[in-house]
Amino acid sequence: MSGDRLGGSSHSEATCKKRDDYLEWPEYFMAVAFLSAQRSKDPNSQVGACIVNAENKIVGIGYNGMPNGCSDDLLPWNRAAESKLDTKYPYVCHAELNAIMNKNSADVKGCTMYVALFPCNECAKLIIQAGIKEVIFISDKYHDSDEATAARVMFDLAGIKFRKFTPKYGKIVIDFDSINTQPSQKPYSQSNGGNNMQTKYIQQDIDGTYWRYLGEGPGIEEHQERILAEAGTLDVEIHKMIHGIS
Ligand SMILES: [Zn+2]
Repeated sequence: MSGDRLGGSSHSEATCKKRDDYLEWPEYFMAVAFLSAQRSKDPNSQVGACIVNAENKIVGIGYNGMPNGCSDDLLPWNRAAESKLDTKYPYVCHAELNAIMNKNSADVKGCTMYVALFPCNECAKLIIQAGIKEVIFISDKYHDSDEATAARVMFDLAGIKFRKFTPKYGKIVIDFDSINTQPSQKPYSQSNGGNNMQTKYIQQDIDGTYWRYLGEGPGIEEHQERILAEAGTLDVEIHKMIHGIS
């Protein structure tokens, strides 16, 4: 293959379309809230919150947990007990409280809070006093509780917008192997068994099929190969070859 033909790295780049399955901001911020919730040690309820400013910058993240310095091995996680003092409720800090207290900016005035669960009345007070202007949540499963009702009353009076958010994807998977297995749409060079043509890039279809796009070869304008990539490895098996696709 002549160097100048392949050397059209600009040509290769031109065939690389930008990703269109990237995470949009609301999904991203809600996912950050849910990821943070995975830090919670509460056996029954894991809630995360993420505060975002007008520039789409995250200024606070929190999840439900016991106060700093209060061992979560010594305090109870029960939801019910003869004495309220033997339940988690008098002690646990909700995600919203922690997100506000963990803020890394001077204040959170005018910010939006992404939170998994509609806030309770205590958190609603904190949200209002902190100057947060909008609350976006996924679940409102305690809608009819006194706590949620009081929260709505206060939000309405204080002019705080709140809305339920339905993400585009039901699940977002974080795959630590993906950095190795999906060199998606990046120029990628690897010899491909017996074939002299050089890989331009590998792309993954919506249905998960991998396609290897090859440089121009003698007599063939463009090759695509469908490949099977095993998770965690770049060793690929050529499954099928299609000629003449441009
Ligand atoms: Zn709360």
